[in-house]
Amino acid sequence: MAIERTLSIIKPDAVEHNHIGGIVSLIEGADLRILGMRMVHLTRPQAEGFYAVHKERPFFAELVKFMTRGPVVVLALEAEDAVARYRKLMGATNPADAEEGTIRKAHGTDIGENACHGSDSVENAKIEVGYFFPGYEVL
Ligand code: ADP
Ligand code: MG
Repeated sequence: MAIERTLSIIKPDAVEHNHIGGIVSLIEGADLRILGMRMVHLTRPQAEGFYAVHKERPFFAELVKFMTRGPVVVLALEAEDAVARYRKLMGATNPADAEEGTIRKAHGTDIGENACHGSDSVENAKIEVGYFFPGYEVL
């Protein structure tokens, strides 16, 4: 299997509930290596740009409002098969459907406020890691 990178975001709900450490602990416990980690308060244009693929979805405005209401933590992760492994660690989009041991089961509230983001393909992971980590920060 190939070494991959993926982008994780600890969303505003999880930051508000003091779950940064709990989520980082699950990430490290799953043997995903943290290459870069930074706290940022997204502007509206940054959140709209990041979630541009969802701009036609009915929840887009709600999602942008949520993602900009407080700081988030962005992490660049690296491991073999990192994209799929981190998606599995996150659990289902709706925390009510997420399996035991996943981030969303432990820390998510509902389908919107679900504690974390993870890239959904190797291709998108490259774009998303580049969105937050310039090459001089994460080589
Ligand atoms: P995932 O984050 O699991 O990849 P999606 O890419 O489908 O899920 O959606 C992106 C984000 O948009 C979700 O993580 C969640 O925060 C929000 N979202 C998805 N579906 C809904 C919904 N039905 N209502 C409100 N927010 C939603
Ligand atoms: Mg997605």
